[in-house]
Amino acid sequence: MKLPPFEYACPSTISEAVTLLASHDGDAKPLAGGQSLVPMMAFRVAAPALLVDLRKLPELRQIKIADDGVTLGAMVRWREILDDARLRTAHPLLVTAVEHVAHYQIRNRGTVGGSIAHADPAAEMPGIAVTCEAKIAVVGKAGARTIDAANFFKGPLVTALDSDEIITEIRLPAWPAKRRFGFREFARRRGDFAMAGVALFYDEDNGTAKNVHVGAIGVAERPLRLAAVEQALNGRTIDEAAMTEAEAAASASVDPADDIHASGAYRKALIGVMVERALRAAAA
Ligand SMILES: Cc1cc2nc3c(=O)[nH]c(=O)nc-3n(C[C@H](O)[C@H](O)[C@H](O)COP(=O)(O)OP(=O)(O)OC[C@H]3O[C@@H](n4cnc5c(N)ncnc54)[C@H](O)[C@@H]3O)c2cc1C
Repeated sequence: MKLPPFEYACPSTISEAVTLLASHDGDAKPLAGGQSLVPMMAFRVAAPALLVDLRKLPELRQIKIADDGVTLGAMVRWREILDDARLRTAHPLLVTAVEHVAHYQIRNRGTVGGSIAHADPAAEMPGIAVTCEAKIAVVGKAGARTIDAANFFKGPLVTALDSDEIITEIRLPAWPAKRRFGFREFARRRGDFAMAGVALFYDEDNGTAKNVHVGAIGVAERPLRLAAVEQALNGRTIDEAAMTEAEAAASASVDPADDIHASGAYRKALIGVMVERALRAAAA
């Protein structure tokens, strides 16, 4: 289907981009990789009067690695994350999750900021942001602010962003070298959105798990932390009994709806299995 008519602008500064968005009173949208926005326009789910292309803003393209963590510019593409060898040690959970995003053509264009702003409940990057307690830096007409990932995702395709705001960076806290992690998702075909997926990590202290973080995608209207699973695992040795308990706690703590891909009951069982497999990978 052809796109509905729209105006196009390609500003060379962030403040120009913000001014353009603000001048259209909610009827303008940033354009990043176009891998979600353009199909939505083709299907008439979105029909913005103006697209503000962010591709000429080099400050949004940087990947910074420092003692306090990893900062991804909003226009960093999936391919750039996979190609950056530093990230395999600086944030292996991020890299493992991004390996599951879409197909290679989409990974060549799709961006971190686009995924966070799009807020698909089954997308990997919002799940990583919530699991890792990322901070999302945004700038708009009223100035810059930082939003905790836990407060950013409000529902399917709904976020805390105002219509004149642009995501500039996603900041992931530092990743200790010996941290254990696992990522598992189940999709009908490799590269499809997950029916259910889990990202988790923990640190070890004398053979027991501490600082357990468990996040889930595809089982609710937004990415979630599974507090009951974290509680069940903190202070425990990650053995068969702990994995079985975590699996049950994960299934019990979500209530997914039925949709065309799977029943809620199936997803509820699936998230338990994903937790068990991700934990097994982390412990191995
Ligand atoms: C066939 C197919 C399969 C896919 N499978 C997966 C998958 O398995 N997992 C997954 O996570 N994704 C998947 N995607 C989506 C893909 O990862 C997209 O790239 C991503 O969701 C959006 O990124 P984008 O850069 O293309 O954003 P765009 O499509 O350009 O924009 C998406 C939305 O974000 C807004 N936006 C973009 N950048 C900013 C910014 N900096 N600040 C504020 N708002 C902004 C836009 O206005 C728009 O509303 C798939 C897409 C397709 C077409």
